[in-house]
Amino acid sequence: MRVGILGGGQLARMLAIAAHRIGVEPWVVDPKPEAPAAPVAHHVLSALDDAAGLRVLQECDVVTAELDHAPARVLTRLAAHVPVRPGPAAFACAGDRLREKTLFRRLDVPTPPCVPIEAPSELADALRVTGLPAVLKTRREGYDGKGQRIVHSQEEARRAFAELGAVPALLESKVAFAREVSFLAVRGLDREVRFWSPVENHHEGGILRRSRPCEDDLDLDLADQGRRATRAVLEALDYVGVLAVEFFEADGVLLANEMACRVHNSGHWTEEGAETSQFENHLRAILGLPLGGTGTLGPTAMLNLIGELPPRGALAELPGARVHLYGKAPAPDRKLGHVTLRVRRAGELDAALRDADLWMASR
Ligand code: AMP
Repeated sequence: MRVGILGGGQLARMLAIAAHRIGVEPWVVDPKPEAPAAPVAHHVLSALDDAAGLRVLQECDVVTAELDHAPARVLTRLAAHVPVRPGPAAFACAGDRLREKTLFRRLDVPTPPCVPIEAPSELADALRVTGLPAVLKTRREGYDGKGQRIVHSQEEARRAFAELGAVPALLESKVAFAREVSFLAVRGLDREVRFWSPVENHHEGGILRRSRPCEDDLDLDLADQGRRATRAVLEALDYVGVLAVEFFEADGVLLANEMACRVHNSGHWTEEGAETSQFENHLRAILGLPLGGTGTLGPTAMLNLIGELPPRGALAELPGARVHLYGKAPAPDRKLGHVTLRVRRAGELDAALRDADLWMASR
């Protein structure tokens, strides 16, 4: 069996490694020779919309994408020849913050107050809905905090709109959340849905720094809200594969922020911390294979390695850590790898995380 992956970044790399483990051949299309997935997959060096790449993908049993912004045109063309899972409609929705929020609202999933913005003249009315501070986000192409600005006045909002390129945007209330929680689920071809533990996420500067499963300390009602919301999205999109929905926990409700139609950074802990990783279950789902168990194996946390790496070999000294490097050149704010930490007892996790932070800071 062959799986085709549009994009050859670190998510494709981890999908490809999982593919080998279940006897599936991974093929990736990426225009960069140094794509992180290239060493572990058949790499087609081609632009995503180039005929050479498309031809190879069409010959696969199923095609998926690892990109935040998979080009809808390419996915739709491919879908005429080969199953594309999740489908092009899911990517079109997740790639546009307005469509995404509109879907959440249609499904009665609460979101922060938000208003679409096409022109600066609309900002004054929008700010009456959102209040201040607010967050202005471009509708498309934003990720890891890029394409968004926090604004504290109408004047700042006008400046931010211009700085972001005067493109269609969304103005949202800035939520004073207690924490950020994501829900990760997989839906099979037979429509079976399985959830991993909800995950608590810490971002800095809009970039995910660390995640940990939090089913043991999440209010039962909130856990239920999150699962119902995620299931509603899966069903509305007739989704197949892994889906992540990110929420803000605030005043006893979960407010949906965004979703990702692919394996997700907040699910990397599943590689060591769950019965089946998100990567393997995504492949199982899109290939129509039985899904693996999603139970948590023990207290686990994931730390992203961002911008620079500790010296070669030094990570092996970090007690209890499993290291995943993506083979990318260091650059500010670039995700270069991650580390998972698993401990025996839940009470040990905070100390292990503190030690890991101190250890990283000392390198
Ligand atoms: P996003 O690209 O929407 O996932 O935003 C990246 C990060 O910025 C989020 O994980 C939050 O930490 C922060 N953020 C985004 N939108 C808001 C908001 N409306 N209120 C407060 N923080 C936000």
